[in-house]
Parts: sequence; structure tokens; C-alpha cells
Amino acid sequence: MARSNFLAHLATIVDVDNVLSDPQVRAGFETDWTGRFQGQAMAVVRPRTHDEVIAVVQLCIAENIAIVPQGGNTGLVGGSVPLRGGIVLTTALLDSIEPIHNNTVRVGAGATLGDLQRHCAAVGLRFSVDLAARDSATLGGMFATNASGLNHLRFGAMRENTNSVDAVYGTGESVKNATVDPLCGSEGIFGIVTSLELQLHNLPVETSVMIASFASVENAVTASLSWRNNPRVEALELFTNDGMSLVCESYALSPPLPSAEAYLLVEILGDESEFAQLLAATNRVLDTVIANSVADKVKLWRYREDHSAAINTLGPPLKFDVRIPPQNCAAFLQATTRALTDINPTLRVINFGHIGDGHLHVNIVGSATTDLIESCVYDNVTAHGGSAVSEHGVGTLKVDRFVEESGATKIEALKAMKSRFDPFGIMNPGVLANVRL
Ligand SMILES: Cc1cc2nc3c(=O)[nH]c(=O)nc-3n(C[C@H](O)[C@H](O)[C@H](O)COP(=O)(O)OP(=O)(O)OC[C@H]3O[C@@H](n4cnc5c(N)ncnc54)[C@H](O)[C@@H]3O)c2cc1C
Repeated sequence: MARSNFLAHLATIVDVDNVLSDPQVRAGFETDWTGRFQGQAMAVVRPRTHDEVIAVVQLCIAENIAIVPQGGNTGLVGGSVPLRGGIVLTTALLDSIEPIHNNTVRVGAGATLGDLQRHCAAVGLRFSVDLAARDSATLGGMFATNASGLNHLRFGAMRENTNSVDAVYGTGESVKNATVDPLCGSEGIFGIVTSLELQLHNLPVETSVMIASFASVENAVTASLSWRNNPRVEALELFTNDGMSLVCESYALSPPLPSAEAYLLVEILGDESEFAQLLAATNRVLDTVIANSVADKVKLWRYREDHSAAINTLGPPLKFDVRIPPQNCAAFLQATTRALTDINPTLRVINFGHIGDGHLHVNIVGSATTDLIESCVYDNVTAHGGSAVSEHGVGTLKVDRFVEESGATKIEALKAMKSRFDPFGIMNPGVLANVRL
């Protein structure tokens, strides 16, 4: 079928307004959040219902056209853009949020986390997976990457907070109220999630936020190792002086504390007296600033949450999202930063992350050969007992690392699932293990 016939056929399924083929309109769907990954789609298609998704998949099977599922396009590993052509299937119009029932809620895959948070907060509940891209990231995209984020320490990732899903596999087969596997974390290579039933928790009566400063990353990590064991700690984040200065410069913010080498941001259940126990457990804290009004808590969180956007203002960064055993995080960060600046002293290396779980983000801006930087970071990941694949997933960026870390048995199992759920190889080709049948 010629391209124009294919697009006309799509328009009979989803309505002509929901087949976007104008290059300028497509552009935002073709480039990822970092600006580093860019592809070209035949069209961007916006189905409005589960049945429309089935019909689009069946047409693409018949015409052998690849489908790239896309939610908020905030993924950072090159998995959500059409690097190998085909169509982008955006879940933007599958954005329903149903009334809450027995502390559970059914949402369309394209509902954003931020909209869900507001829906739940109005009745004293919350969805416990949270991340800084909340106003764009969708629940379907978060499920597809098994996102974890800021509250992982206490509540786990998407897998632990999702009860069931509706989806359409690459076979065109529809499933309703299915179990979370095999789709959770499959990054769109088996099928498209159209809706999810999510588990909710009570909103805490009160939480307080503190930023504490430290003379070194090592001191901050040492404090985090004891603080992470306190069951009232909801979030525990690390960042450094470089990141703090960049956020302050980028958004004209005043630093909340005198400058120091490293900072921990802690959110704890209860009022500020809860911090006394944390502070008593270490003598390494230099200064603290504490907030318990909603507005002040948001202000303190900005110093951490604005890191990614501030780094992007310097140009497309090389981003590494890695998982390191918590006790090795200080040594990993020191060794990696030193090795990177040995390659090129002008490289800007900005480290931050969810230190409570050892999910670290190493961001590098400046000129140096990508291969050299990659092997420098990944050699240090291996030397410190870590994994190159962490909460952002694999996408196209980390296929080789994923295959290497997984081993032959896991990759064979993935291939078997691929031939079961996507026998025609149309779902998100090149992503995850780049499984070819
Ligand atoms: C500022 C910022 C902060 C972030 N913080 C975190 C964090 O703390 N923790 C974390 O885990 N991630 C974080 N991320 C990464 C990103 O937000 C997550 O990966 C998120 O889960 C992606 O959701 P999305 O809707 O944008 O998905 P997209 O980027 O659109 O897609 C991501 C992947 O999922 C697939 N996909 C999307 N929707 C579907 C669907 N309905 N069915 C099947 N496959 C689908 C895509 O094909 C792609 O492979 C952050 C990103 C930014 C920009």
C-alpha cells in the first residue's frame, strides 16, 4: 500500500484530525526530551480508544509498518522516538482518570502523573511513584519503563504499584485486566498499554523537608547510609555543589544554604522534630534548612528537581543512569568524576540521584569522544559492583550493556516472548534487547 493510502486508511480508524503528518507538527514527537535522539515518522497517530488501538495495530501488521508507542516523551534513553521510521502512536488522547474505588483508580495510559496526583490529593490519597517529569510523563510510559523515582525507597516502582493493565499486543490481540508482566518494563516491544489500574495510598497527614550540607560527597553518602534505614524517610536525594550552582544560575534562585561540596535532601513523615534522630546519627552535617509549609517544601525540592532541565540549558548532555550498591556510591562518584576530568579537564560533570536506592545520574557536558566517556563511566560501574541499566530503562541507548549484563538465558527468554507477543517485529524495533526474530 502506498504511503498516502496507508495514511488515508489510518484516518478512517482514528479520524483525519488524529493522523498528524505535517513535518512541523511531527517534530515534537520525533525528538526526545534531551534533544539527543531524533527520528522521522510517517505520521503521528492519536487513537482515542482501546478498539482504535487494536485497529491501528492490525493495519500496521498488514502493511508491515513499525509502531513506536509514545507517552509524554520524557524517556531519556532514546526509546520513545521513531529512530527507525514507522508511525508514532501517541497515547495523548487515552488520558481518562476514573473515579477512585477502594483505594484503586483506573487511568488511561496517556494520563499524566501530575493529573493523577491532583485527582488523588482531592480525596486525601496519593499515587506513590513520583518523579520530577510528573507534568508530562504518562502512567503508561512510566509502566512501560517500570519507572521508580523519588519514593522508591519506601514504595517501590511501577510494578509494585500497578494491579492490572489493558493492552494490545503486537499480534493485534487485546487483553483486559491482565497481570503486570510481561508488559511492565518492556518499553513497548511487546505491545501498547491502553489503561492501568493503580494502587493508591493515604496522603500523609504531614511531611517535612530538609536540605543538609556536607564538606564532601563521601560525608553525604555516609550519612545517607544510616538515614535510609529510618522507616519514616520517604525520599533521600543527593546532589553536589556544581548542580546546586547551576540550578541557582539557571533559575535566578538564591542558594538555601552556604555553599558546600554536597547536599542531601530528605523528606520525612511528620514534623521537623523527626529530623533530630537523623542529625543525632552523624556528626558530618555542616548546615541545614528545613521546610514544612507546602510552599516552602516545593521551594526546597526545586534545588534538586530542576537539575535535569538546568543541565539541558548547557546543550545536549551525555546522561548515565546507573545503579550502584549504596555503600559504594561515594567511591563510584569520586572515581568516575576524577577519570572523566582526566580525559578532558573542561568536561562539566554533574552528579545527582536517588542516593537512598543507589540510583545515580551522571551527566556530562562538553566535548570528548562519546565512546571514551562511555567506557570510562561503565568501567567504573563494573568496578563498583553496579549495573549500567537503572530506572530510566534501556531504550536504544543501552542495548549493548543490557545484553551483556543479562546473559544468554535471559536474552533467549526475551526472544521467546518477542515471538509470542510481536511475531511480526513491528513493536518499537531496536529498543531493549534489539531482538530480531
Ligand atoms: C526531568 C526528568 C526527571 C525524571 N526523573 C525520573 C525518575 O526519577 N525516575 C524514573 O524512573 N524516570 C525518570 N525520568 C525518565 C522518564 O520520565 C520516565 O522514563 C517515564 O517513565 C517516561 O514516561 P513517558 O510517558 O514520558 O514515556 P515515553 O518517554 O513517551 O516512553 C518511554 C518508553 O515507554 C514506551 N511507552 C510509552 N507509552 C507506552 C504505552 N502506553 N505502552 C507501551 N509502551 C509505551 C515508549 O515506547 C518508550 O520506550 C525523568 C525524566 C525527566 C525528563
